[in-house]
Amino acid sequence: MTAPHDPALTSPPVARRWAYGVYIGRFQPPHQAHLLVMLEALQHVGQLIVVIGSARAARNTKNPFTAAERQAVISEMLRDAGTAQERLRFVQVRDHLYNEGLWLSEVQEGVAQQTRGSRDVALIGHLKDESSYYLRSFPAWTFLPTHVVSPLNATDVRQAFFEDRLSEVAGMVPPAVHAFLAAFRETPEYRDLRTEYDYLREYRAAWARAPFPPVFVTADAAVTRSGHVLVVRRAGLPGRGQLALPGGFLSPGETLLHCAARRAYSETGLSEAVNLPAQRRAQAVFDAPGRSQRGRTVTHAFHFDLGTGPLPELHAAADAAEARWLPFSEALAHPEVFFEDHHAIIEHFLLRG
Ligand code: NAD
Repeated sequence: MTAPHDPALTSPPVARRWAYGVYIGRFQPPHQAHLLVMLEALQHVGQLIVVIGSARAARNTKNPFTAAERQAVISEMLRDAGTAQERLRFVQVRDHLYNEGLWLSEVQEGVAQQTRGSRDVALIGHLKDESSYYLRSFPAWTFLPTHVVSPLNATDVRQAFFEDRLSEVAGMVPPAVHAFLAAFRETPEYRDLRTEYDYLREYRAAWARAPFPPVFVTADAAVTRSGHVLVVRRAGLPGRGQLALPGGFLSPGETLLHCAARRAYSETGLSEAVNLPAQRRAQAVFDAPGRSQRGRTVTHAFHFDLGTGPLPELHAAADAAEARWLPFSEALAHPEVFFEDHHAIIEHFLLRG
């Protein structure tokens, strides 16, 4: 692996300097190429604002580390590389998979808070593939493409990490990140993620011989009544312990509407005397390609609005550790407790008016 200061990988001096540089990433985890890009950027900007994406999401094997953990380890790796902490700023931004405008607005606002309105801002990044399309979405900032050329990517680091190829990991990440990863392996969070990783690997392997990559179809139920939404705590993998809307895979002989209602009754013990299909208020498709770690999964979500009045009794089924009516305020305020994109589904139905 190339050392972080390899001059062959850093850009030739750019005559101009910017007061601020913005570097957006997921950093799950930060690796040597991220460090090189940041060090290159610091040659051209006074302060570097690192925008840490995918914040406030439940841990999963694609997003194993919290934004706070990523921020701490990025600070440390840059300090080890000789960067004064005063030159660093951080902004943490949630994903908004179905609302690009909201995501852009949160990035703009987070950066503006750091720059206090300065227009002397450069955006650093690498248009590596379609996933970097967002770099074209900030015309107010001068785009400064990185000259770092490296095949490294965080997916490979996570794979090596979860598959115990630790010497490979050591070659891909700065020492501070390696130390963080080694300590993380001792935590209960790691044990849960590792169980989930192994489960998902087997799950995908079971489909590997299909002639085409499978596309799964699911249905979910957002049942609301008197300012509460019906949620279950998942008892099984993936997402064990996380909150979810009741829902599941479509059976061959049923409609999507029937599937959503069936799962809502069976997972929560909601009485079938409550006629969910008759109380359908809205429905929407949620199809972000990366929304599920099991594979490509398109879900059809239904909003069943049961109006006002007392909350019906619930009894969690075997595949749900708990079923409860969650106040809207709690559901909206805590994206980090929800499985996959279920928080975005709730936001869609509750906030769209
Ligand atoms: P990343 O950590 O993979 O990469 C960060 C930056 O480093 C990118 O510019 C990338 O091109 C560059 N980079 C990565 N590997 C490199 C290498 N080997 N050599 C040179 N440069 C390299 O992060 P990302 O996936 O690009 O992060 C974007 C973040 O923004 C994510 O959290 C994503 O979810 C979020 N996002 C959210 C929305 C939304 O919610 N609507 C939209 C766009 C982006």
